[in-house]
Amino acid sequence: MNYIGAHISSAGGLEKTILRAFQINATAFSFFTKNQLQWFSPPLIQEKIDAFKNLCIKYQFTSKQILPHSSYLMNLGHPINEKLKKSQDLFLNEMMRCNQLGLMFLNFHPGSHLNQITEINCLSRISDSINIVLEKTQNVIAVLENTAGQGTNVGYCFEHLAEIIKNVENKSRIGVCIDTCHLFASGYDLRTKEDCKNTFKKFNDIIGLKYLKGMHLNDSKKPFNSRIDRHESLGLGEIGKLVFTWIMNNKNFHNIPMILETINPKIWKEEISWLRSQKYN
Ligand SMILES: [Zn+2]
Ligand SMILES: [Zn+2]
Repeated sequence: MNYIGAHISSAGGLEKTILRAFQINATAFSFFTKNQLQWFSPPLIQEKIDAFKNLCIKYQFTSKQILPHSSYLMNLGHPINEKLKKSQDLFLNEMMRCNQLGLMFLNFHPGSHLNQITEINCLSRISDSINIVLEKTQNVIAVLENTAGQGTNVGYCFEHLAEIIKNVENKSRIGVCIDTCHLFASGYDLRTKEDCKNTFKKFNDIIGLKYLKGMHLNDSKKPFNSRIDRHESLGLGEIGKLVFTWIMNNKNFHNIPMILETINPKIWKEEISWLRSQKYN
């Protein structure tokens, strides 16, 4: 099965995402479990949790088709201990929210060194943060996203993600989400079939495909290796459409949520149907 969808607005309530996803013929979706620009959010009330779960059943979304995205404020590799703790608390809160909603994944950006510590120190802080939070929670898999390498973000190469995973104690609750725009912007080419094969061979050699829990399908507005994170609609950017056809036909990407974060929500429905049409059989 290919599970295909988009990052859906949770305006008006988390349970609103489900019908919105259904309306664009999505079989996967992502959303923010809380306001992504605020540190604190009121706890989820039981009525909302029940509504969310019931609508998931009604519209046939199981937890393996849903890849919630965590807040952008979080930096699990923060150089300053006090701020690191604040991020860990936020991550803990979001992991618990996901568990309350019956979800199995939480996608997050690894972190930034802010030019105050080395990359390796930052990566080790990220692993520590994950260990702390996994110990205090249950069920939910922490899903690291590769980054474009903008600013002082770590996680722009497979070695970084592998290093974080290496130091996570509970390997059954750590995974990776690959964003095609970030991959291309960070210097992994995807423009030809050979490029796609080489890039994902490297992924398998360095990280391992068993850790791949989701994909973000985005074209890139910025050129190859620019290290700038600017998404574009499929086929309208610098990567082109080939990689998306290749992904649709590769069984390594089956049964995981594939999420559009492309810039024009008005054409998500068409993008989803185009992706489906790319499957040869
Ligand atoms: Zn992404
Ligand atoms: Zn991005």
